Amino acid sequence: MKHTPLRAIPAVERVLQTLGETGLPRPLVVDLVREYLAELRKNSATAVFDHAEVRRRVEELRLSRIQPVINGTGILVHTNLGRAPLGRAVVETIEAVGADYNNLEFDLASGERGGRAAYLEKCLAALCGAEAATVANNCAAALILLLRHFAVAPRNEVVISRGELVQIGGGFRIPDILETSGARLREVGTTNKTSLGDYARAITKQTALMLRVHRSNFFMSGFVESPAAEDLSALAHKKKIPFVEDLGSGAMVNTESLAGLEHEPTPAEVLRRGVDLVCFSGDKLLGGPQAGIIAGKEGFVRALKKDPFFRALRCDKLILSALQTTAEIYLGDAGAGIPILELLRATTEDLAARARNIVEALKHLPVKAEIGAGRAQIGGGTLPKSVIPSVTIDLAPECVGLQELAERLRRTTPPVVGYISGQRYKIDLRTVFPRQDAQLEDALRKVLRERTADSTR
Ligand SMILES: *Cc1c(COP(=O)(O)O)cnc(C)c1O
Repeated sequence: MKHTPLRAIPAVERVLQTLGETGLPRPLVVDLVREYLAELRKNSATAVFDHAEVRRRVEELRLSRIQPVINGTGILVHTNLGRAPLGRAVVETIEAVGADYNNLEFDLASGERGGRAAYLEKCLAALCGAEAATVANNCAAALILLLRHFAVAPRNEVVISRGELVQIGGGFRIPDILETSGARLREVGTTNKTSLGDYARAITKQTALMLRVHRSNFFMSGFVESPAAEDLSALAHKKKIPFVEDLGSGAMVNTESLAGLEHEPTPAEVLRRGVDLVCFSGDKLLGGPQAGIIAGKEGFVRALKKDPFFRALRCDKLILSALQTTAEIYLGDAGAGIPILELLRATTEDLAARARNIVEALKHLPVKAEIGAGRAQIGGGTLPKSVIPSVTIDLAPECVGLQELAERLRRTTPPVVGYISGQRYKIDLRTVFPRQDAQLEDALRKVLRERTADSTR
């Protein structure tokens, strides 16, 4: 194609007309077109107006909308894929509470103003075997609230082991969190070894808090040592400072009974060891909505709720009611109806049977499809040692490269996200709901039948 002289760059309106109905908000599409045309004008010596490029950008805008995705990664708590999916009952609660007025802060018994989510707090306390519990926006927020509340200058030192100054996911670093909260870090011990004596020596008049952080996304073995929680809590109580543990994930069920996972401490277990307060996420292994649950000593929880900063971190009615239903499920029957746990409980025989059906459905397509052995993971910085046996669909397409296949699958509705390994495109069925199998087959059929990229251009 020849270079576009300035006057050959079409007007925004013309481009929009040619695009027709995109299904996207017009102001966004107008901006997109304007931006593209501005780029052309800037490089008018070499730029060529390309309608296909506009369509490509519109498609990319459409893809960036939040939408349901088929998770074929085998990572159960995938932070990029929205962490825990919500169960039927939880979704129904959100729908019902969201659509109508509700008694969020209204006491129906007395007809007066009531405590926000008082019933949920009772449920969470019962689940954690705690005197009291409350909820903030997420676990990071809970931690910041705890630190801001307890670590106030001049008494603002937080004693923490060097082995626990971890980074959790994108940019979330425990030392940074401490510092933004106005707390001062008092590191003790070494990366691999911290003794009770190290903690004891670090405690001074400036000490506000003893903090333990559950090492969630890595594990250490070999020459390692850290004191028992019982000993740390005895020390903290002797010195009259609160002892807080950030559990990260927080499991409510015995994780060893799930697909042979390692042990993940439950909030109840940690509180029994004498920890004053724990915090953990709502949307990791708990399998609920995004939230940061705080549980432990009643006096501390009450004080935290009175902290003006708590107001800025509070959850809305949808989250609180979703968490209420999640908590009720656990208080009822050990997590039946929690999708994350159901995915974990599926046997490899179940998965293999589904895999055979899917492979069968691909029989006449230009692809070599086989059933493979998968290694699923919890993810979300939880149980890093645990590999969960799984079953994968392994694809070696005949007419298209693996990257191109991956891209096409990301562009289906719903998008499919698998992974490439060992010259195969793989979809791990551990994280695919059985109800999605038909959609997955449709997506695979569609993309494998597509002409190759070259022949369409
Ligand atoms: C994941 C995690 C957090 C952050 O939790 P969010 O709910 O994502 O804010 C904090 N601490 C630990 C140990 C974690 O694993």
